[in-house]
Amino acid sequence: MISKVLIANRGEIALRIARACRELGIRTIAVYSEADEQSLHVQLADEAICIGPPASAESYLRGDRIMSAAEIADVDAIHPGYGFLSENADFAEQCEACNILFIGPRSETIRKMGDKALARETVSKAGVPIIPGSDGPVENEKEALRVAKKIGFPVIIKAVSGGGGRGMRIAHNAVSFTKEFLTAKMEAEKAFGDGTMYVEKYLESPRHIEFQILADKHGKILHLGERDCSVQRRHQKVIEEAPSPFLDKSLRNRMGKIAIKAAEAAEYENAGTIEFLVDAKGNFYFIEMNTRIQVEHGVTEEATGIDLIKEQIQIADGQRLGFDQKDVILSKHAIECRICAENPAANFAPSPGEITLYYPPGGHGVRVDSHVYGGYTVSPHYDSMIGKLMTYGRTRKIALDRMYRALSEYLIRGIHTNVGLCKSIVVDPAFRQGEATTSYVEEFLKRAPKELFEPK
Ligand code: ADP
Repeated sequence: MISKVLIANRGEIALRIARACRELGIRTIAVYSEADEQSLHVQLADEAICIGPPASAESYLRGDRIMSAAEIADVDAIHPGYGFLSENADFAEQCEACNILFIGPRSETIRKMGDKALARETVSKAGVPIIPGSDGPVENEKEALRVAKKIGFPVIIKAVSGGGGRGMRIAHNAVSFTKEFLTAKMEAEKAFGDGTMYVEKYLESPRHIEFQILADKHGKILHLGERDCSVQRRHQKVIEEAPSPFLDKSLRNRMGKIAIKAAEAAEYENAGTIEFLVDAKGNFYFIEMNTRIQVEHGVTEEATGIDLIKEQIQIADGQRLGFDQKDVILSKHAIECRICAENPAANFAPSPGEITLYYPPGGHGVRVDSHVYGGYTVSPHYDSMIGKLMTYGRTRKIALDRMYRALSEYLIRGIHTNVGLCKSIVVDPAFRQGEATTSYVEEFLKRAPKELFEPK
């Protein structure tokens, strides 16, 4: 029985996990860097242990320090959240070796699916459609170019260890290919310590649609429907919703079944996400699996009524999933805006600093997951996301109208944010009509007047 959990993360997700634990009657241990002493997750947890200086490499990425904290606090389990050590197979393996439950899949699964080329191969063998591309990683730029010519331009060059939209480059022709390849490789070496690359056909303006999976330790795997995450800037998600305005029942069922197949091929346990790109005709292709909770998990929670963090903890504890596929009903429409400390008018430069005034929206159908408050200082050391605003309702229109209302209420002063930009997207006719593809934001930014980007 899990009775004490260490939360190996910070920010809103650390808070989210602490809340789920409290509802389950589980004690929580927060870890924090010197920059996060005043953070809400530290205050909300039952105990807190400082693990080092502000830089992530010296704190939240230090598996050794986190393991020491776990041993000192004598916890049963570690929840890694997303980012940081959540997809670090060595860390999960260390937990296994120390008899501490890692709330996530087994280390070997993380290793297998964390290598994007190997993940492609694994699911493809199980009959999951993948985008045409190289058979596994490419040796060098010459081999990569041969593959690119064979599959036809444009192509996308990707790092097998990539994540967060980094280490990816598009090449439109053979002339620019080598330069793009070497740049992507260098970026990947720097960001992930691994410059192994693979090549895929670049799909023009697809939709990004991903399926939420839950798998218990007794062989039951279910999907909780999809999230449409097509509203992206530089391959990073900005707005997500569930269900997707593009899918009908039949395509949802087909994709859901294939997503389960992919999870089976990975011998998956716990919560995971199968990401697909979908073309205008409804053809869909696997791009990767995320072996952790996602930032955008909340829209699935609000659409289905299922608490994913609690499910994760119960699965890790060996409990059986308490419902079947037929019980999973997307009875609401939910949408999320990622609220970031950044300045859209200055090319989205991060905007750290003190929040002088903070008033989050509330009311019917509104959820705010955030660790910030008035007087909180946004640190320059971490990701610029300061919160997630979710709204939900019976229909997509209700959820979108509610989002506009909630964004209009959201007061954050002292720093720049993307609240104004989100507001203008939520009322944009193309977005409202459900037409957004992964090229949407770029196109929108070209036609949107600059003053729209500034919060009023
Ligand atoms: P990461 O792990 O860095 O998030 P993904 O493989 O999940 O990378 O891709 C992120 C985004 O990049 C996708 O949602 C999509 O917008 C774009 N992308 C990735 N692969 C392709 C492709 N083959 N064709 C077109 N767009 C792609």
